[in-house]
Amino acid sequence: MPIRVTVWGENVHEHKHQLVRDIYPDGMHACIAAALNRDPGIKARCATLQEPEHGLTDAVLDETDVLTWWGHAAHGQVEDAIAERVQQRVLKGMGLIVLHSGHHSKVFKRLMGHNCDLSWREAGEKERVWVACPGHPIAAGIDRFFELPHEEMYGEPFGVPEPLETVFISWFQGGEVFRSGLTYRRGAGKIFYFRPGHETYPTYHNPTVQQVLRNAVKWAVPEQRFGWGCPHVPADKAPEPIGSTGGSVH
Ligand code: ZN
Repeated sequence: MPIRVTVWGENVHEHKHQLVRDIYPDGMHACIAAALNRDPGIKARCATLQEPEHGLTDAVLDETDVLTWWGHAAHGQVEDAIAERVQQRVLKGMGLIVLHSGHHSKVFKRLMGHNCDLSWREAGEKERVWVACPGHPIAAGIDRFFELPHEEMYGEPFGVPEPLETVFISWFQGGEVFRSGLTYRRGAGKIFYFRPGHETYPTYHNPTVQQVLRNAVKWAVPEQRFGWGCPHVPADKAPEPIGSTGGSVH
């Protein structure tokens, strides 16, 4: 049974900026999905902001093991109810991979409980992505580092909670550094934030970036689903007998 991935794309820059359309004629989401589908163990489909319920209906999410999220220009257009729905799905076990400017998405900020702010600069500089967690499955196949010749700079401080693992740290030509590959767990769900992917550079065509995405999908697969709730447990259903007077001691 292949891993079922939904690749969510905001799909706005691709229609507004010729440069982005030239790099990603079918949209960034289509490029990401194609990269994932190169692995026979992954079956990726796309969903976009413009679809009803942003393409993230309950039926779609029922068939999603891992959701990837790229957004930038239209975070505010994502309906709160859909962001809430995605958050709840993650808590129940769905994997989530948040890409690049998705750091400011409603979904990511809700799950982080933080502002997710950072510093940035668009100067086409080199990014060197270092493996900070050797042996981590998301870094599989990468030796010490890989480089992207042109990227947007994201710099520390990154307004996120301390991650479980820092898989990658980026250095930029201008001197800044950034924690660019972070893992989290929220409820039963695994979350990976991956920094590269500014829309005016061909980052998602990069073979190493594509390998990281495939690695991350495999890592984020739900181990098991958990249905949360607030069940009342009467005394006669408690694991141990309590008795009529409760557990008073003196
Ligand atoms: Zn960007």
